Amino acid sequence: MSVSNCRKDEAMQTFVTRQEIILWRAQQRTAQKQIGFVPTMGALHPGHLSLVEQACRENDVVLISIFVNPKQFNQNADLQSYPRMLSADLALLQHLPNLVIFAPNENEMYPADLPFAPMPLGKIGQLLEGAHRPGHFEGVVHVVHHLFALVQPQKAYFGQKDFQQLAIIRLLNNFYSFGIDIIGCETIRESDGLAMSSRNLRLTHAQRKNAVSISRALQLVKANVGKISLEEAKIAASAIIEQAGLEIDYLEIVDPITLENCTEWQQMQVCCVAAFCGEVRLIDNMLCESVL
Ligand code: AMP
Repeated sequence: MSVSNCRKDEAMQTFVTRQEIILWRAQQRTAQKQIGFVPTMGALHPGHLSLVEQACRENDVVLISIFVNPKQFNQNADLQSYPRMLSADLALLQHLPNLVIFAPNENEMYPADLPFAPMPLGKIGQLLEGAHRPGHFEGVVHVVHHLFALVQPQKAYFGQKDFQQLAIIRLLNNFYSFGIDIIGCETIRESDGLAMSSRNLRLTHAQRKNAVSISRALQLVKANVGKISLEEAKIAASAIIEQAGLEIDYLEIVDPITLENCTEWQQMQVCCVAAFCGEVRLIDNMLCESVL
C-alpha cells in the first residue's frame, strides 16, 4: 500500500486517554487492519517523519504517540527545557493518511494501579548511555512497555540514531513476549551531516555550526577503518569534536551487537558519540564497515 493510495478524507484523530486507544484498537482488530506504531516525544522533525512515512507505507493504520517521558530524563533541567509543540506537531502530520495520535498526560500514561515488572537490562544497559545517564533506559523500557501493551501493534518503528535504545527495545520485545516486528530506520541528517534531533532546536546559531563536528568525527572514523589504528581513529575523531568547542561525554567504537568496546577493527563496528554543545547533549552514531 503506498502513501499516495491511502485515503485522505478523514480528519486525523487525536486521543488523550487509554480508554480511547483500547476502543480504537478493538475497531482496528475487528476491521482486520494492521497497526504500525511510532513512539515519539514530539517536537517532530524530518527524522520522525521518515519513520511515520515508512509506517504508513507498511501498515493499514498508524498510531504515533507524543509524550515527553519524565522517567527517562536523568536531569530535571533537560526535562524542563525539552521542546514541546503539540499544535505544530499535529500540523506536520495533517497531510498523512490513516494516522491517529496518542498524546496522553502523565497520569494517563502511568496510572497508579497499572502493574509493571521491570526487566533486567543486562550488560547492554550498563554501557554508553546506560553508564552516563543512570535510570534513562529503565524509563524508556517502562514507557515503551506500557505503550506496546496498550497499542498492541504488529510493527513498531525506531530510529538507528538511538542505536542502543533500539537494541534495548528488541530485548524488551523478547523479554515481555510482545511479538512485535521491530523496525530499525536509518538516521536522517541535515544537509551538512548533523543528525536531526529535537534537541537541535535549543542550539544557538554558533552552537549549531559547531555541532556538525560530531558527524564529521564519525565520518573520519568510517573513512579510516583498517587504515589507521582504532585508537588513532578515536583520538583524531575526539580532536575534531573538541576543537569545535564541544565537551565529549563519550566516544567509543563498539561491537554493533554487544555494544562492548572493540580493541581492534573488525568486519563491522559502530562509533557512538555523546557530546555537550553548550548545555545541549547530542548523541549520534555511525556504522563503520571494514572494506578490507
Ligand atoms: P524521540 O522523539 O527523540 O524520542 O524520537 C522518536 C523516534 O524517532 C526514536 O525512535 C528515534 O530514534 C527516532 N529519531 C530521532 N531522530 C531521528 C533521526 N534523525 N533519524 C531517524 N530517526 C530518528
